[in-house]
Amino acid sequence: MIDEKLVIPGEFLGTSEEFTGGKGTFERNGDVYSSITGKVSFEKKTRTIEVDPVTSSPPVPTHGDEIIGKIRSIKDQIALVNIDMLVGNEKREPAVSEVGAIHVSNVSEDYIDNVGDEFNKGDIVKAKVIVDKLGSIDLTTNEPQLGVVSARCTKCGSRLMKEGKKLVCKDCGNTENRKISSDFGKGV
Ligand SMILES: [Zn+2]
Repeated sequence: MIDEKLVIPGEFLGTSEEFTGGKGTFERNGDVYSSITGKVSFEKKTRTIEVDPVTSSPPVPTHGDEIIGKIRSIKDQIALVNIDMLVGNEKREPAVSEVGAIHVSNVSEDYIDNVGDEFNKGDIVKAKVIVDKLGSIDLTTNEPQLGVVSARCTKCGSRLMKEGKKLVCKDCGNTENRKISSDFGKGV
């Protein structure tokens, strides 16, 4: 059964006496070949053979995945994160424009009033996916290795350095508070 078979470009599908070549095929010297990589489908009535392209869909972050992302906005209770990468497999770039949300209760084990006390717009964070319902990705940073891994000074824009439990700007002396990852400054 040729139906549903996976074929590559140039693969022989049948003769033009047997089939009419449809989408994803070409004909040469009375033979029908696949012009793309895809799955063969066969329409019996019209005896048309087609190849439907196989598209590799980018991975969607799922429960338990660690991600690297950038804080894009902050409201009282929620920080929104642009998810740039799935940790552990840098080739697994997520689907574009995936956005996750860190709720104030998932920032750290300490009680926090306002997400803006621990994150700032533009911070690079490592976070873990806890809910991956369709169209809604919830993230947590409530583990030692999770939290801010890179941040810039809100006063002068220089890169902040970790000093104890705070982040310090070497250029202007500003001290800032964050939920800091134990991987802070180690690169991503
Ligand atoms: Zn500064």
